[in-house]
Amino acid sequence: MQYSGGIGSWATAMRVKAEHGTDNLVLLIADTKAEDPDLWRFVADSSALLGVDPVVVADGRSPWQVFADQRFVGNSRIAPCSVHLKQKPCRAWLDANADPANTILYVGIDWSEQRRVLAIEKGWAPWIVRFPMCDEPHLNKQQMLDWACAEGLRPPRLYEQGFSHNNCHGVCVRAGQRQWRHLLQVAPDRYLAAEAEEEKLRAQLGTVAILKERRQGVSYPLPLRELRRRAALPSQPA
Ligand code: SF4
Repeated sequence: MQYSGGIGSWATAMRVKAEHGTDNLVLLIADTKAEDPDLWRFVADSSALLGVDPVVVADGRSPWQVFADQRFVGNSRIAPCSVHLKQKPCRAWLDANADPANTILYVGIDWSEQRRVLAIEKGWAPWIVRFPMCDEPHLNKQQMLDWACAEGLRPPRLYEQGFSHNNCHGVCVRAGQRQWRHLLQVAPDRYLAAEAEEEKLRAQLGTVAILKERRQGVSYPLPLRELRRRAALPSQPA
């Protein structure tokens, strides 16, 4: 199954284990070279609980290196980092090790993300994909976190810090302004590092940015540096 270090993928693995055991269970995880070290702590703890050693695949680059190589900054709609650092290494491993005729791929999205099911199924063809957390009983994120605690696991710390996903240390190009503002508040060092990377790319590629904003019906790049400048302004009276 596609293991990510997220709580949904852990809950998925627990359901797969309950139904099929672990003899043929593989926890396949892609290293983006940008994860919170605590994600790897959780992967180690949770895979020990499941009784399965994870299989880690990696392209070797970070998201920023992918953007520089592609001459394209990822954004909420197009994320080449996900393609090159997650999908391609995982597919290469599957091609070499998993016959689609007798392999089922499990993905950890839940019932609140059902709209993604068709695209994921299409993307992973010819493997058959299943989504155990879309089945009943439906659990929300807090229930999955509580479940992990009840199993004696310490959940990934990114959730405690107010992030809804445990990926790329809270520095995700798919996130919207709200998450970037949150990152600036709780981890300004990581925000500033991302801002510096974005500025480097802007120096090479021109007026591009991860975020966009619309003004009078026109879409403009919104650099992290500008978002930070605005966040420092006194808030306007309502
Ligand atoms: S979590 Fe976000 S930044 Fe990281 S690889 Fe996926 S899309 Fe890219």
